[in-house]
Amino acid sequence: DASTASKASNVVEASNVSADAGPTAASGRGGAGRADPFGWLDGAARARAEAGLTRRTRPRVPDEDLLDMAGNDYLGLTRHPEVTGAAADAARRWGAGSTGSRLVTGDTALHGELEAELAAFYGTEAALVFSSGYAANLGMVTALAGAGAHLVCDRYNHASLIDATRLAKAAGARVSLFDHADAGAALAALGAHPAERRLVVSDTVFSVDGDLTDLPALARVCAEEGAALLLDDAHGLGVVGDGGRGALGAARIPAAERGGIVVTATLSKALGAQGGAVLGPQRVIRHLVETARTFIFDTGLAPAAVAGALAALRVLRAEPERAARLRETARRLAAGLGELGLDVHAPDAAVVSVGAPSPDAAVAWARRCREAGVRVGCFRPPSVPDGRSRLRLTARADLDEVEVKRVLDVVGSTRPT
Ligand code: PMP
Repeated sequence: DASTASKASNVVEASNVSADAGPTAASGRGGAGRADPFGWLDGAARARAEAGLTRRTRPRVPDEDLLDMAGNDYLGLTRHPEVTGAAADAARRWGAGSTGSRLVTGDTALHGELEAELAAFYGTEAALVFSSGYAANLGMVTALAGAGAHLVCDRYNHASLIDATRLAKAAGARVSLFDHADAGAALAALGAHPAERRLVVSDTVFSVDGDLTDLPALARVCAEEGAALLLDDAHGLGVVGDGGRGALGAARIPAAERGGIVVTATLSKALGAQGGAVLGPQRVIRHLVETARTFIFDTGLAPAAVAGALAALRVLRAEPERAARLRETARRLAAGLGELGLDVHAPDAAVVSVGAPSPDAAVAWARRCREAGVRVGCFRPPSVPDGRSRLRLTARADLDEVEVKRVLDVVGSTRPT
């Protein structure tokens, strides 16, 4: 999620800042007078540091005594014994990797089983598993848009959807952005450029603030206009809807409007494994198998990840109350943070976002939380628009009362002064 881009324009501006600030006469030449091909990187890194935008990976330590409020293991399934057991068995049976593209050697019966069960869970005709949610989004959008298509996209879509639309644009599609979660604005954008192939593209649950798009209205607009609706339900599967059946179920989209809808999901959040999937009508899925470049030219998802996701899906089906518990925990967290006087969004899903005064303040606040034993997410531009840096806390179904209280104490007592 650290690469989530809330605004396409923001990302472009931010990357220009870094790149343009780089080259200098001194750093552009090596000692022997030869050009230094990466000399400009030093200036770019300096510019990011000055803007408070340095980023580092930070390895997790197994069993470390940190309460994790930054990950996406929403249902607490990544370490569930049935999930890890199924993953380990599949690795022993099939190997650590899938050995090739699904169209060559990378397919197993497990992949088909997961696809059938995911489709049944979502109530779609078919599903197709990809190696990540990112790859699923790229594959879905580029295979369904093409030269002459018109893509109408929510301004705050996830970075993977933005990259997908950039690729579609390079292939000759027209791209329009509409105001966040505004179905009327999507309708106006559709009308502005008539095209034979029109596709509205949106997250269902937005990953930074955890707010929802107005799915019933968006689906109605698309059905009336004869436009396809492409949705990213990465933060919806396992979280929203009865039993965590995702955004389509939560929004109670009528069957008549479902024929034009295609959804992506990730297996790496609520299902605790790794990978992604596209769900939709059979003919769409067949088209993706034969044309989606991130399906054809990518190594198939590792069998261990497939088996882990399948086991997690079965746990979720058997224990549908996990999703409701997760949403209740998110509400309790948000209410508690609000009572502390912090700037919090009321959560519609599992994400609880807390405003910070500046990028530097957000980084320092997250560090103080970590030092006090609670890991929280920290979002700064270009992941969010300028002026909207924040901490992001992700609720989990397995958090108890004592842990929720500890989170509130730590986030409250370490707040910027
Ligand atoms: N879409 C959204 C909204 C996401 O938050 C993410 C994960 N950051 C993805 C897609 C990508 O999914 P994955 O991590 O499985 O590639």
